[in-house]
Amino acid sequence: MDDCLFCRIVNKEIGSEIVEESANSIAFRDINPQAPVHLLIVPKEHITSLRELNEDKCDILSDIFRMINDIAVSEGIDQSGYRVVVNTGEEAGQEVGHVHFHLLGGRFMKWPPG
Ligand code: 5GP
Ligand code: ZN
Repeated sequence: MDDCLFCRIVNKEIGSEIVEESANSIAFRDINPQAPVHLLIVPKEHITSLRELNEDKCDILSDIFRMINDIAVSEGIDQSGYRVVVNTGEEAGQEVGHVHFHLLGGRFMKWPPG
């Protein structure tokens, strides 16, 4: 999608610090990190939100979670702990309409989230 920020990052029209890339997915550092480790893992296909990640998209979902766990190891947070967040829809604070998985770690976190 031409006017989608994360499609433009996937297509390398907008620069980002890419950490890992597969056939289906890409992981890059968040521009405004909320923790020492804060990456976004996104499918290359334009999928608007978690609502559209249905059973037809199982391959994408498993690839994303494989990537999340790989990156947790390479970023050194697999043992200390990490959080995966998918904001979905307005009340949850989704700002970019291309589904993305936040991977956060490297500090103690509070619960419940704000
Ligand atoms: P959301 O609020 O939709 O769950 O998260 C969107 C995330 O995208 C935010 O954490 C924000 O900092 C990040 N973001 C917004 N624009 C850019 C950008 O141009 N590059 C990168 N790397 N991250 C971005
Ligand atoms: Zn997109």
